Amino acid sequence: MGDLCKLCGNKAELRKSHILPEFAFGWLKETGATKYLRVGDAPNKRVQDGHKMPLLCQACETLFSKDENEFARVIFRPYVGDGLDANGEGTGAIPEFIYKEWLLRFIISVHWRVLVSEGTTNIPIQYWPTLKIFEETWRHFLLRLRPDTGICETHIVFLSSVAAAKGGGLLHLGENVNYYILRTVDKTLVISDTKRKYLAVYSKLGPIAFFTAIMPSSLKGTADSKVRMRGSIKIAQKLNNSGLNRFILVTRPNEVKGIYEISERQNEKILKDMTMNPEQTLNSLSSRAFIADKWLERLKKN
Ligand SMILES: [Zn+2]
Repeated sequence: MGDLCKLCGNKAELRKSHILPEFAFGWLKETGATKYLRVGDAPNKRVQDGHKMPLLCQACETLFSKDENEFARVIFRPYVGDGLDANGEGTGAIPEFIYKEWLLRFIISVHWRVLVSEGTTNIPIQYWPTLKIFEETWRHFLLRLRPDTGICETHIVFLSSVAAAKGGGLLHLGENVNYYILRTVDKTLVISDTKRKYLAVYSKLGPIAFFTAIMPSSLKGTADSKVRMRGSIKIAQKLNNSGLNRFILVTRPNEVKGIYEISERQNEKILKDMTMNPEQTLNSLSSRAFIADKWLERLKKN
């Protein structure tokens, strides 16, 4: 009986494993107006607790849950509880988080699950060898068979309401962006279909986003968000990487657009908040490069 566990390779009765951790769905349910929620990569599917698939044996589930619990206890709960106010704006109450190996292991465990669950069905063939290498590298890292995650960079981005963004520069970001930033649980491989190869794994649990850059393997201007084996990470991050900012604030919300039903009233409130709070700066995505990009685009159109 049983199948092979995707992580340790042992034959076992596989558990229906969450791709994205259950605590994030629990939080959405606790704090949302409706007990149903929608997931970014399953546009037409109402889900109650996220995408699951037979993946891990009980021992490996337990291995992952230790890092998950640590992340939820030390970072996620404090950030959504004290780091953000009821409107999703940064409070400044928590300057930074101190972390150990569990943070990188947690993020890589999520991104490894994303790789394994995506398979190769919709992936251009030129990426297959790289994906195979990283699946194995991360699996070995998670099993403590190697001390590093290979040639890639992992980032954690603390998001807050774009309603608090300075001036009106972000007004035309799209009405669903704030909802996307604060309330969505999401995951995807980031792949370019152009000749220039681009490969990354992205995930997001409410207002905390994770990005592992594979090709290219490092992101400029992102020292504040880079996750190492241990250290401290600031909540008020300066991210001067317009590619990353554009992906989180524009590209990805547009990709999943139309799956959230935002009422007229919510829209009006978001727009009102945006005009009422010109002094506050956007917490982690106050990239001048990004805002400049957006204004340039607008100028070009006019
Ligand atoms: Zn296992």
